[in-house]
Amino acid sequence: MTRPVIGITLGDGDRPGYTSMRADYVRSVERSGALPLVLPTLAPEHAEAVLDRLDGLVLSGGVDVDPALYGRPRHPKLGRVDRERDAFELALTRHALRRDLPLLAVCRGQQVLNVAAGGTLIQDIPSELEGAVTHAAPGRRTRRSHPVEVVGASKLREILGAGPLSVNSFHHQAIDRLGEGLSVTGRCPEDGVIEAVEMKDRSFVLGVQWHPESFWKEPVSFQALFDAHSTASRVCCMVRSR
Ligand code: MN
Repeated sequence: MTRPVIGITLGDGDRPGYTSMRADYVRSVERSGALPLVLPTLAPEHAEAVLDRLDGLVLSGGVDVDPALYGRPRHPKLGRVDRERDAFELALTRHALRRDLPLLAVCRGQQVLNVAAGGTLIQDIPSELEGAVTHAAPGRRTRRSHPVEVVGASKLREILGAGPLSVNSFHHQAIDRLGEGLSVTGRCPEDGVIEAVEMKDRSFVLGVQWHPESFWKEPVSFQALFDAHSTASRVCCMVRSR
């Protein structure tokens, strides 16, 4: 059977001049039966040509999104931004949404998805959200640090069950005002932080604020998210190859 090709966006690594990502994304997509294709940051005008080769897209985690892109001034606690990556990922996301290409958006990816849909972000949870639990948890990538309540009928519920889920958390930003067409499907019950979203008028557009890719080696994992994305991408692959 033809394997769907799933693009995974890359960011700038900690070494200047290198582009890199956590191999966990590649392994999770490979395990799902799809072929992972890592995408370096390119000029945004290449987004459409890249998408022509893909059956699905994963937006990976990374640095903060430039608040200028959602019309807010910089908060003093804003972290590092990568304007080239923002521009390329926003172009990929907008065109993917228009094409109804299956999209799985992880952490920063969920934030990029929200900004692409016209939403805004909390730039720093600890200083902007009183009483928030720790979302930038130290320690192992598979350390589960807070619960997520699964809200309403959703793909998330179909894939992972009614919850509550127990997730890892490595973010200091989150969705503030929700973008157009997005629905909240998961929240941290302790502080209301949006942890999962979907675009219900698309065949598969799902964002999570935690890191499902970290668990691919674990007996209890979130692999089902990658598997469901791969299944949706296989449909795209069959349509495309006709
Ligand atoms: Mn969190």
